[in-house]
Amino acid sequence: MNMDRIIKLEQVSRRYGAKLALDGVSLEIPSGVVLGLVGANGAGKTTLIKHVLGLLRAQRGSVRVFGLDPVKQSVEVLSRLGYLSEDRDLPPWMSVGELMRYSRAFYPRWDSAYAERLRQQFQLSDSSRIRTLSKGELAKAGLLVALAHRPELLVLDEPSSGLDPLVRRELLEAVVRSVAEEGRTVLFSSHMLDEIGRVSDRIAMMVQGRVVLNGPLHEVLESHRRLVVRFPQSKDRLLAMPGALAIQGGPEEWTVIRNGGQEAFLNALHEVRGEVVEEGQATLEEIFHARASRHAVETTENHAG
Ligand code: ATP
Repeated sequence: MNMDRIIKLEQVSRRYGAKLALDGVSLEIPSGVVLGLVGANGAGKTTLIKHVLGLLRAQRGSVRVFGLDPVKQSVEVLSRLGYLSEDRDLPPWMSVGELMRYSRAFYPRWDSAYAERLRQQFQLSDSSRIRTLSKGELAKAGLLVALAHRPELLVLDEPSSGLDPLVRRELLEAVVRSVAEEGRTVLFSSHMLDEIGRVSDRIAMMVQGRVVLNGPLHEVLESHRRLVVRFPQSKDRLLAMPGALAIQGGPEEWTVIRNGGQEAFLNALHEVRGEVVEEGQATLEEIFHARASRHAVETTENHAG
């Protein structure tokens, strides 16, 4: 695989008034991968994406897309990427056919045959007005425009928000197919962990403006375990053990999400006469909640300290 960095953010920070929306974010996306950007509402996903698109200038740090500055070299960067925004801002008065012709004029590499195939696959009528489309159809029309010029980089901001599960799968499958076929790069934001898990090669998790976890999906999954432990002491002692991220349950049996080396954790557990009752791989959902709650604890402690 070509490991060139299609996107490279270094220490990017962004403030809206008192709100720190991005807090020293560094993130690299290699060529040819699907990166799933996960985060709760307000975590900073859209703000990060706006920096990639050159719609926002980094107040601190640097952003490079294709090795270019997306603010200063916006025409070149935008001509090489496809973008589906969260609010699908398409001109409401146009028909689907007009939207396709209008978009073709912007992109020298627009592929009319591919656009037509997508239109049929998405079951969009040529003559339907944008303002009359359902949420799902609107997302499909936006995706068609984002895909049909065969961009090197596809940026999808919450592509499936408001869509039913069937349409979600259809959209995601189209994305995955296009990526698999042509080795293009996708940056894909979502708060739906099941779909992130289905389509991503790598994931980055955002919590309160920070990237708290970033890596290949299989490594993220393999490096986190869910343990049920019997431990007749306080939750805080368990939480202080090496690699423990989040604890639930009690008073005697606890479910622990942990990462890193197992041995150090087990040694610490045995020292206080705890024992493992059950063990398995943590789900992406459990990992995300564990990371988010850990981050909240650390932030509170830092502020307190
Ligand atoms: P969602 O999943 O809800 O779209 P997100 O992860 O995309 O969330 P952002 O839209 O990037 O989050 O917002 C990050 C934070 O910055 C939020 O607290 C939001 O309220 C704030 N924010 C975003 N845009 C603005 C703005 N133009 N003015 C003031 N605050 C803003």
